[in-house]
Amino acid sequence: SKKAGRNCVTLFKDEMATQAAELLKLERDIMKAMFRDEFYFVLQPIVDSISQKVVGAEALMRWRKGDEIISPVEFIPFLEESALIVDVGERILNKVCAFIADTKGRDLLSDGFRFAVNISAKQLARTDFIETVSRVLTKHNVDGKYLDFEITESVALNNMEDTISKILSLKKMGVGFSLDDFGTGFSSLSHLKDLPVDKLKIDRSFINDITLDKQDENLVRSIIQLSKNLGLTTVAEGVETEAQVEWLMLNGDILFQGYYYSKPIDPLKFERKYLNQEVV
Ligand code: C2E
Ligand code: CA
Ligand code: CA
Ligand code: CA
Repeated sequence: SKKAGRNCVTLFKDEMATQAAELLKLERDIMKAMFRDEFYFVLQPIVDSISQKVVGAEALMRWRKGDEIISPVEFIPFLEESALIVDVGERILNKVCAFIADTKGRDLLSDGFRFAVNISAKQLARTDFIETVSRVLTKHNVDGKYLDFEITESVALNNMEDTISKILSLKKMGVGFSLDDFGTGFSSLSHLKDLPVDKLKIDRSFINDITLDKQDENLVRSIIQLSKNLGLTTVAEGVETEAQVEWLMLNGDILFQGYYYSKPIDPLKFERKYLNQEVV
């Protein structure tokens, strides 16, 4: 009826107003958070399947808002939309480099140990991205060889030529590159071959069912083979069970990351637990 229709429109308008208000509040909260320096990172170990040693870690952003800890899935899309990710991303890189300098200074980092940092499309697209990274490394007196930058297929494909030239410049500083969430994007194999990345991270949605679903099993097996043929190091994300670990071990020399080994934890805890000894 007409009446119900009108009610629907009103409800819809109300909802839009609520959404707009929420977005404004989020924007204000994020500006405050930047001012108060409420963004920080946690570390999740990356484990070598053969030696069972921790060979690196991924830095994952968190937002400490009062006594709440907010997950990046709730605010990163907004940071990306508003380009604030460029600022916040640089701060996270600064913090990770400060941590590297500190642990390196106390001789806690073994050769080849790397900290992976997620880089968004907006950051990579900046013409001053290389300069920014170089400045941060210099500021903390950190060698790029302790860093891996994680980019997704869509980020890499945004502007292939530009991406490739930037990757090559950063590689000269020692920075490594990982293709994140592999399998969820739409990159063709020819693109993959052209990207000068070092690691390929199989998205956790594929790892989830490897021990249950024949198709996923075959898919992951082919990705591992593909990665190997391209001379890349394979990382399996979201490893949660012993069965998955066993399956993956039988299927190649790869790196593991997931709750089976550890959830992301505070850097101090990471240091105590994994640096110096590096045995899980
Ligand atoms: P991602 O880069 O794919 O990071 C892996 C996500 O999987 C993390 O979620 C991690 O906590 C989660 N994870 C790891 N192991 C397991 C597991 O065994 N099971 C399950 N269920 N999950 C697991 P998190 O920390 O919530 O981060 C979500 C996403 O936010 C990241 O996905 C990344 O895209 C983005 N992100 C996080 N930190 C940053 C950052 O500093 N900069 C940018 N641009 N993006 C970031
Ligand atoms: Ca990542
Ligand atoms: Ca990922
Ligand atoms: Ca993911």
